[in-house]
Amino acid sequence: MDKLTVRDADVAGKRVLVRVDFNVPIEDGKVKDDSRIRASIPTIAYLLDQNASVILMSHLGRPNGKIVESARLRPVAERLSALIRRHVPVTGDAIGIGTTDAIARLKPGQLLMLENLRFHAEEEANDPAFAKTLASYGDLYVNDAFGTAHRAHASTVGVPKLLPAYAGLLMELEIRNLSALLESPGRPFAAVIGGAKVSSKLAVLEHLMTTVDTFLVGGGMANTFLVAKGMSVGKSLLEKDRVEDAARILAAAESAGVQFLLPTDVVVAKEVTRGAEHKTVLAHKIPNSWSVVDIGPATRHTFEEALEPARTIFWNGPLGVFEVPTFGDGTRSMARYLARRAETGTTVVAGGGDSVAAIEELGLASKFTHISTGGGASLEFLEGKELPGIAVLLDRPEPAKPAPVAPVAATRKPAAGSKQKTPAVR
Ligand code: ADP
Ligand code: MG
Repeated sequence: MDKLTVRDADVAGKRVLVRVDFNVPIEDGKVKDDSRIRASIPTIAYLLDQNASVILMSHLGRPNGKIVESARLRPVAERLSALIRRHVPVTGDAIGIGTTDAIARLKPGQLLMLENLRFHAEEEANDPAFAKTLASYGDLYVNDAFGTAHRAHASTVGVPKLLPAYAGLLMELEIRNLSALLESPGRPFAAVIGGAKVSSKLAVLEHLMTTVDTFLVGGGMANTFLVAKGMSVGKSLLEKDRVEDAARILAAAESAGVQFLLPTDVVVAKEVTRGAEHKTVLAHKIPNSWSVVDIGPATRHTFEEALEPARTIFWNGPLGVFEVPTFGDGTRSMARYLARRAETGTTVVAGGGDSVAAIEELGLASKFTHISTGGGASLEFLEGKELPGIAVLLDRPEPAKPAPVAPVAATRKPAAGSKQKTPAVR
């Protein structure tokens, strides 16, 4: 990885400001899913172990610049306390006298959490004065919040411009696993893409087109591709204004020699609701007043067969309306199949809020090679975009090159006016 990580920094006795992504679901004042909290424990534990003072900062929900009681970080701090078996105090506010005092009292090996950054509109606005105040709390900055790295906010871009800024261990893991997909995937490389809309996945389909050998497309977005191929999809979710884009992608896949599989049979329902009447039909025989809600059993089988030779598999987006259990067979069987493949040595990476939720519901997350903690961020990464929260971190210096042995030709004086450069040594 070309970014310096927390392991490259001298943190002993220093105050380290750590941006974490503790934006977790809270229900009845309790954390419902703590995977993002767990994912940052290696960085927190490392820093405490190195005798640093750790100041954690995160956002939670969308309080939009106002104090919202239900968006306080206390439940998060309580869960972190239980996980690392030590008290995690939370400041009353991210900034202010009380916070400055608490930080001044913080000793090496101790930790503290700032209250929800988004109680201040200045966070999302990347306000320079707010960033400066936050930066004054630390000697060093560490970003472990991969899930927020695609946002240019005060805590992700403003602060790291003011302090020596390093990647946390989770950030490092995310960058390493996702860039391996783009740069050096074991082949064949297959991508399973589902979810509601083609529009949100167009860029990733286009960028992955240059790397994958096979695309398997399901979910609501497959409907737009079926229409592009001349089929009709009844009452199903369809993006009419994206049919041309879908046709363009199909043509691009064909000219690039990329296999592109769509459902050949689908589950259709009278209504997209629990208990609605449903049946399996062929994809070219979708009845008028029905909606596609899942891939069918023949497609499940074809998809698995197509994945059999793959050495690398990436999955994003559920293959059906899995929130309704009867329409979740395609998504659940894909999750189980991929977990088995990961267990037998295939590199299997999953990213995306809903697809990851489906994997977690089945308790299969630990089987995967890597599950990205960033939904939107992992997609943008795989679209080939530079994420602002990563770009701003310190670059790893190029390894020192051996002193060049001057070739005879280089000792000759260049002719007057010529712009000859010393030959590069590789
Ligand atoms: P992810 O968060 O994994 O990237 P998306 O947000 O793109 O996935 O899409 C998830 C949503 O797609 C789910 O809410 C699911 O119900 C919906 N979906 C999947 N298949 C269909 C379908 N056939 N019709 C309508 N919605 C669908
Ligand atoms: Mg989603």
